[in-house]
Amino acid sequence: MHMNITVLSGGMGGAKFLQGLLHGLSSGALAPATGPETRVTVVANTADDIWVHGLKVCPDLDTVMYTLGDGIDPGRGWGRRDETWSAKAELAAYGVEPTWFGLGDRDIATHLVRTQLIEAGYPLSAITRRLCDRWLTPGYGDRLRLLPMTDDRVETHVAIADDSAPSGKRVIHFQEYWVRLRAEVPADALAFVGLDTSTPAPGVVEAVRDADLVILPPSNPVVSVGTILGVPGIRDALQARTGPVVGVSPIVGDHHIRGMAEQMLTSIGVEVSAAGVAGHFGARSTGGILDGWLVDTCDSVLVERVEALGIRCAAVPLMMTDNDATAAMARAALELVG
Ligand code: GDP
Ligand code: CA
Repeated sequence: MHMNITVLSGGMGGAKFLQGLLHGLSSGALAPATGPETRVTVVANTADDIWVHGLKVCPDLDTVMYTLGDGIDPGRGWGRRDETWSAKAELAAYGVEPTWFGLGDRDIATHLVRTQLIEAGYPLSAITRRLCDRWLTPGYGDRLRLLPMTDDRVETHVAIADDSAPSGKRVIHFQEYWVRLRAEVPADALAFVGLDTSTPAPGVVEAVRDADLVILPPSNPVVSVGTILGVPGIRDALQARTGPVVGVSPIVGDHHIRGMAEQMLTSIGVEVSAAGVAGHFGARSTGGILDGWLVDTCDSVLVERVEALGIRCAAVPLMMTDNDATAAMARAALELVG
C-alpha cells in the first residue's frame, strides 16, 4: 500500500531506526500495512548545529544522511567511513580551538559545500536537498526526503557549574557539553537559542500534518525531539493531524541506551523512564502529541500507567540490534496505532 510516513529524528538513534524502517519497507516485513512504495519524510533536529573553524556543521542531518546513504562510519555512528584526520591534526598544531570537535577530512568536504552555499544565500533546506542528491537520491529516488526542522539558526546551550566564574555558572554549546565533557557533569539548565523565533523549513508543517503516520523514533526527547517540537508551528501541526502519532521509547529500564537522555530529562525535571517520557509528551487527546507509545518488554509494568494517560501502549523488544529487529519495532508501532 502507498503511504506517507514522517519521522521526527535526532542523530544516531533516529538514523538507526530509519535504517530498520526502510529495510522493513523494502523487505516486505511491514506488509501488507505498507510496502516499498511508501514515502518517508525525515524532519531532523538542527539544534545540535555548530559553527566550527568557520564551517557550518549539522551533526544530526549528516548522521541521518550518511547512515541512510551508506557513508557512515558504523563503529562511531557519526562521520564518514574510512575517515582520515589530517586537517584536525593541522588545526591542533596551530593551537586553534576547539580541538575536541571531531572533524574528519572527508566530512569536512560536506561542511565546506554546505558553508559555501550558506554564504551564497541558500537556505539550509535547499542545501540539504543538494547534499542528499549525492547520498539519498541514487538509492531511494523521491521515496525518501530529509528536511531540517528549520532554516533558521537554532542552538542548544547548556549551563553548567563553574566555580571560577563570578556567577558560579558557565554556558557552553551543546556540542561542548556532549563531546568535550561527555555529559559527565549535571546540566543545570538548557537554553534553546533562536528556537522561539524560528519557523519550520519549507514542507515541514505539511509533512507533519498530512502524513498517514508520524513516528517519534528513539531520539533524545529533550534535545532532539523536544527541539523539533519547539519550532513554532510543528506541535500545532501534530495536534491538527487526523492520522496517528506513535513513539518509541529511548529509555529502556530507567536508562538511556546511549547518549545523554538521562542528564537532559533530569535537567528539565522529567522522570527517567519510558512512562516519564510518555507523560512528558502527553496524549494527543489531552493536548499532548502521542496516540501510541512503545515501551520495551522489560518495562511491561509501565503499560498500564501509560494507557491511563490516554496513550495506547504496548511492550515489545526495543533494542535496535540489527535491521530485522528494528523493522519489527516499526511493525509494532504501525500495529499499535493501525
Ligand atoms: P539523537 O538521536 O541525536 O537524539 O542522539 P542519540 O543517538 O545520542 O540518542 C538517541 C536516543 O535513542 C538515546 O536516548 C538512546 O537511549 C536511544 N537509543 C539508542 N539506541 C537504542 C535502542 O537500541 N533502543 C531504544 N529503545 N533506544 C535506543
Ligand atoms: Ca543529536
